[in-house]
Amino acid sequence: METLEFQAEARQLLQLVIHSLYSNKDIFLRELISNAADALDKLRLAAYQDKDLEADLSDPRIELAVDKDARTLTVRDNGIGMTRDEVVGLIGTIARSGTAELLAKLRETKDAAASKELIGQFGVGFYSSFMVADTVTLVTRRAGTAEGTRWESDGEGTYTIDDAPDAPVGTAVTLHLKPADADDKLFDYADEWKIREIVKRYSDFIPWRITLAGGDGEPLNSMKALWARSKNDIKPEEYAEFYKHLSHDWTDPLEVVHMRGEGTFEYDALLFIPERAPFDLFRADGKRGVQLYVKRVFIMDDCEALTPDYLRFLRGVVDAADLSLNVSREILQQDRQIQAIRKRLVRQVLQTIGALEPDKYRTFWDQFGRVIKEGLLSDADNREAILGIASFATTHDPSALTKLSDYVSRMKDGQTDIYVMTGESRTTIENSPHLEAFKAKGYEVLLLTDPVDEVWLDIVGTFDGHKLQSIAKGAVDLSSAEDAPEREEQAKDFAPLLAWVQSSLDEEVKEVRLSTRLTTSPACLVTDANDITPALAKMYAAMGQ
Ligand code: ADP
Ligand code: MG
Repeated sequence: METLEFQAEARQLLQLVIHSLYSNKDIFLRELISNAADALDKLRLAAYQDKDLEADLSDPRIELAVDKDARTLTVRDNGIGMTRDEVVGLIGTIARSGTAELLAKLRETKDAAASKELIGQFGVGFYSSFMVADTVTLVTRRAGTAEGTRWESDGEGTYTIDDAPDAPVGTAVTLHLKPADADDKLFDYADEWKIREIVKRYSDFIPWRITLAGGDGEPLNSMKALWARSKNDIKPEEYAEFYKHLSHDWTDPLEVVHMRGEGTFEYDALLFIPERAPFDLFRADGKRGVQLYVKRVFIMDDCEALTPDYLRFLRGVVDAADLSLNVSREILQQDRQIQAIRKRLVRQVLQTIGALEPDKYRTFWDQFGRVIKEGLLSDADNREAILGIASFATTHDPSALTKLSDYVSRMKDGQTDIYVMTGESRTTIENSPHLEAFKAKGYEVLLLTDPVDEVWLDIVGTFDGHKLQSIAKGAVDLSSAEDAPEREEQAKDFAPLLAWVQSSLDEEVKEVRLSTRLTTSPACLVTDANDITPALAKMYAAMGQ
């Protein structure tokens, strides 16, 4: 037997889990069952892919054993199991990306509720066992190997690891339960009825049999894959539980997209839009993509081929009917069926976002607007649809965001362009002389302050046939026909002044001209219609170009 230390980060996370998740201890069982279900998925897939693998698939299941006298609860599966190295690597360390960042954020956050949310987003997994157990024992054997492994820990910094020669294939996790809360019997996990209730609530849709040892063998769960059921028969709570199971999020999803494809390519898709952006949304190694199943067989997590990068916050499942079980990530990128499914999903998701009721939409845009706008650059086919669901700050109502369609409906008679102004911040834009004439004449201007706005604005061009016109670029003509004689007069009067300014500033500027865009400021600098804007120039300079 060997005694090893948890990796420092793992130890910290363990302590945080144990001490900040006290209010929702029940979820430990969901986590263990979800690991067991993953292990059964993996064994079935491994057996398909490797015909020589010695794997018993005759009675795959998850068995729960409660011993009230010994105060133990065991979660046993006959899934893929783990090798000794896997146990050390997967349980003793935190291999998952973003751990360091999560811990740093947790240290900054003094508020218990906020810490809980952060950990919840990260997914506490196996460690949540230590919320309810003094000691956890894990006995496992990997399919296709001869040796089993026994792991045990009290969660205090070290664990022991030993051989377990007789271990069957699969994994058994035994929790030595802490004493029940004296005044709250509800938290006694040594009660069978309590276990039944938790399984029903959190794990009903797990597609494998969950049984009680020594019971009648009747599954505790209904086992039906939620995505394959008819929309009309599914309650909102069922969607929410499934989402939480998939995402490890604690909050209900903001919106559900459940669709079925029939015809050439058959599939079921169940996608969720989270209510909050995950912490790794803007990390290069952040989680992206949904799960891929083929005819109820789990194939892979994070299938990037099914959703574009700008929808990387989506969680969910796509179950395709006609793919080979041996598909690889590389093949998927090229697969016609996957491409067709992806196209439909994107359209449906954008449409769903467009139809969100105002409160939900505001939450959505606040959390994911920046990511969605990336799609304006990368997804030319859906550009108009993406613009349609985007919203922007506007001079019309400084406290609200507006969609372009609303802007268009407010355009003045004779106005054909959508006026926008980009800048570093709202204040810079609002103090800019460029805005003056537009404001004075009652034109609405969109105020774009996101760095990515500069970039897509150059590419996008129009919305609904209206040109997106930057008011800081080129000659924007605001004068009406009736002003024309007056302007000719002015042009004559000012010609000497312009010539003088031009010659004095020849090195600095391209052209000096009279403008109708100012009302109180005497002069302003504009860029030529084809030149890059100052902010972009700065960005390029920063990138060393
Ligand atoms: P996650 O499930 O999010 O990866 P966990 O902490 O729940 O995180 O589990 C860590 C890893 O340990 C899993 O990814 C899996 O590889 C392994 N594992 C946990 N439980 C089991 C099990 N019952 N059978 C096989 N492997 C398991
Ligand atoms: Mg897990």
